[in-house]
Amino acid sequence: MSQVFHRHCHTPLRTAVRGDGVYLYDQDGKAYLDASGGAAVSCLGHSHAGVRAALHKQIDQLAYAHSSFFTTEVAETLATRLTARAPGDLNHVYFLSGGSEAVEAALKLARQYFVERGEPQRSRFIARRQSYHGNTLGALAVGGNAWRRAPFAPLLTHAEHIAPCYAYRDCKPGESLFDYGQRVANELEQCLLTVGPETVIAFVAEPVVGATAGALTAVEGYFKRIREICDRYGVLLILDEVMCGMGRTGTLFAHEQEGIHTDIVTIAKGLGAGYQPIGAMLASDRIYDTIANGSGFFQHGHTYMAHATTMAGSLAVLDALEQEQILARVNPMGEALMTRLRERFGEHPHIGDIRGRGLFQALELVHDRDSKRPFDPRSKLDSRIKSAGMSRGLMCYPMAGTIDGHRGHHILLAPPFIIEESQ
Ligand code: PLP
Repeated sequence: MSQVFHRHCHTPLRTAVRGDGVYLYDQDGKAYLDASGGAAVSCLGHSHAGVRAALHKQIDQLAYAHSSFFTTEVAETLATRLTARAPGDLNHVYFLSGGSEAVEAALKLARQYFVERGEPQRSRFIARRQSYHGNTLGALAVGGNAWRRAPFAPLLTHAEHIAPCYAYRDCKPGESLFDYGQRVANELEQCLLTVGPETVIAFVAEPVVGATAGALTAVEGYFKRIREICDRYGVLLILDEVMCGMGRTGTLFAHEQEGIHTDIVTIAKGLGAGYQPIGAMLASDRIYDTIANGSGFFQHGHTYMAHATTMAGSLAVLDALEQEQILARVNPMGEALMTRLRERFGEHPHIGDIRGRGLFQALELVHDRDSKRPFDPRSKLDSRIKSAGMSRGLMCYPMAGTIDGHRGHHILLAPPFIIEESQ
């Protein structure tokens, strides 16, 4: 019996021993095509020479210096590079060790912003059903997956949840996609008016929903309307790009494609590309200045934030994305993947929708295509697909939507950007 406390106590796991390009190899030398990048993490594949060299160099020089004593050149450079590429005035980067930490920091920063502005009555978040923002208590509270929240409900701060933008399921017959997007965005305004906009801190959303809905993009105009509503009621917008950011959808920041600016954005997975654990939160001038000119202290922090080695690794990831033109591969490879998925599964009786953006795509599984009836969540379809894939040497990321108010199963595909068409 393993002494490692694995998340599934009774599912035996193979041992990964080596990674090379888009493949992982187990203890028997069997290859697995990493078609999901783990969980949309490994954007560069598993053996990128530049990232490995940068990590070695940094460890040899300085592995770690606590961030309350020192900054480092690599942290400063990485922040400069990220802010130069971020839309709007997201000019301040707070480095963390993963996605949930980035979301926690965003929630706390947004709350502290209003406390320092003299609006302490703002104490709620609004987010969307079918969203995932992480597993720590604050992030879990805003996430829309009721099944994940249920055992911990007494420990969680209250958050309101409105509908996601899910045209495949919710657009009415005869309704244009644009009108649908406006209608569903207006749920935010209705929710604000119900709870009292003066009590709300922020609206939290993934620009492209990952784990809980499968590469679900919003329709044109949806996020512009969301931004308008946030502005009208003085509520902050927090975009969670932990999964969909760092080039996964074709642009470095996913929300660049929505034509809006945000107050805070979180990034993580692709930022480290799996070479080291890292997350980050980028905040706008208005938020940073309020704290800097107020208490001068963000009441937060973790031991490993801005860890020198992780900073060096992520800087090398950015170099690879930009200088080796790896980011430029995402859209053409994404188009090739979409074409092949449509050819192969477009008429499949159990594939209801094929969707996504860039190299972030999903197949939604249905019992039958006409009614869009989902499979029973108790069917364990997701774990059966995962093990069927693994036995054939394929890593894909099947998930069930929320079980309470079940919306179906999907298989997420998020391969490394270095993938070749033949692979
Ligand atoms: N936010 C989103 C959108 C995610 O997809 C995830 C993880 O899948 C998280 C936050 C949490 O990130 P982590 O697992 O690194 O804590």
